[in-house]
Amino acid sequence: MITSSTSSTQVKVLYGGQWRASAASRWGKLYNPSTGQEIGQAPMCTAEEVNDAVEAAAAALPAWAETPVVERAQVLFRYRDLIMRHADELADIVTREHGKTRPEARASVQRGVEMVEFACGAPSLIMGQCVENIARNVDSETIRHPVGVCVGITPFNFPAMVPLWMYPVAIACGNTFVLKPSEKVPQSAVRLGELLMEAGCPDGVFNIVHGDKECVDALITHPLVQAISFVGSTAIAKYIYETGTQHGKRVQAAGGAKNHLIIMPDADLDQATAALVASAYGCAGERCMAGSIAMPVGEVGDRLVERLCARAGAMKVGATDGGAEVDMGPLITREHLERVTGYLDVAGEEGANVALDGRKAKCSGEGFLIGPSVVDRVTPQMRLAREEIFGPVLSVVRADDIEQAIAMGQDCEYGNGASIFTRSGWAAREFKRRFNAGMIGINVGVPAPMAWFPFTGWNRSFFGDLHIQGAESFQFYTRQKMTMTRWFATASDSHHDPVWKSGAK
Ligand code: NAD
Repeated sequence: MITSSTSSTQVKVLYGGQWRASAASRWGKLYNPSTGQEIGQAPMCTAEEVNDAVEAAAAALPAWAETPVVERAQVLFRYRDLIMRHADELADIVTREHGKTRPEARASVQRGVEMVEFACGAPSLIMGQCVENIARNVDSETIRHPVGVCVGITPFNFPAMVPLWMYPVAIACGNTFVLKPSEKVPQSAVRLGELLMEAGCPDGVFNIVHGDKECVDALITHPLVQAISFVGSTAIAKYIYETGTQHGKRVQAAGGAKNHLIIMPDADLDQATAALVASAYGCAGERCMAGSIAMPVGEVGDRLVERLCARAGAMKVGATDGGAEVDMGPLITREHLERVTGYLDVAGEEGANVALDGRKAKCSGEGFLIGPSVVDRVTPQMRLAREEIFGPVLSVVRADDIEQAIAMGQDCEYGNGASIFTRSGWAAREFKRRFNAGMIGINVGVPAPMAWFPFTGWNRSFFGDLHIQGAESFQFYTRQKMTMTRWFATASDSHHDPVWKSGAK
């Protein structure tokens, strides 16, 4: 909900190296999802404020682009050390503003650190290519240049990690950056910004604005912005991609997901159940790589559902802040909790069987809490099988054989992740080759790549060409210049040029 506010817990914006109180007239409330209590306000920055931030980034660009890549990497080495030193503090902020359990929050910070470590390799990763004598006496080379001012727009579900997917590589490549974190969880990004300034990042190289559509629209249409990285839901990803590219920007836009987990009859059922439960209910299901549909193949269905219900039903659910030891925390907002609950209502109406009902779970705390649910006898046509729920609900769609499971992936509008649990090399290979998704797990519940590999969503889980993470991210944040060189020997070269002396032309 957006209100006018003058409270002292207002999140600051950063541009030109200064942390500033926003001049915004609209403010969004921030909540601790564990308690439901308000913990601050985020400004909904106007186009004027966005313009100031983008101009600060543009002003800092020439000097930063000229800074040797080794020196740029040195800033990131210091940044990596600072994040490690403050990792527990950052995890606390993630837990407080998002609701992840403490171990989940700490692990998400670690995944972000790995992106910084990856970006520290910029001097190697930014290298161009060269072919000597590609034509007689002609050399040809490519050099990677920064693209300019880059923008990052991030979702609520990983308040520290997803911003770190973007700006470390962008600034390592010599770009300057304006981050617009989720207006629901801006505080982790602000703390990360403070640490980057402490690491010696020059003024204006990294900037932060806050807000909603008004702020985003000003960023993605700004004439000085060259490239946009977006992570969020599919509808907005598509909008950002279309609007950004229409305005001449380079865009990578990662969207929503519906991830399938196939369990073959020969799978180790205990291991598969543990992996499925971690995949579906980790981070309360608020992950773009969360398992959302379990597809037991053949006679394994009943045994799997029984084990899933037992294991998920034993999870401790509750408030996560203040060091509480629970297995699953709250959802992000009351509205999202109602949305997820609504899907369980729909499940009953559509004829599925709610085998484990999260609405009836005993949860400790006053926040936006719901327990894990297992919904059995879901068919491919039902809304639960088609729509992204983004909560702790695992739908079970039974398949007769692997072909049916693969066919279901073919019909899915999304294409982030899919996993198979099996002991058969043949089944794993068929699945890996033919399943219609960009990230495949074999006996792995969450096949989310680490920093060194690209986050290769397919279909409507990604809009653009070059993905986030891995070598592709260096390609996204640079443009190549090709130079062809031919030198003619002069009379003075003839005294000491062995090629000339030998008579070569
Ligand atoms: P969201 O799309 O609502 O918001 C993402 C960002 O877009 C936020 O910064 C928000 O301020 C901005 N935004 C929202 N509405 C907008 C509009 N109308 N115009 C312009 N900007 C707008 O997503 P969310 O709810 O914050 O995050 C959850 C979604 O993110 C899920 O769909 C999840 O699957 C997806 N996600 C995808 C990946 C991936 O790698 N594919 C990773 C994490 C999350």
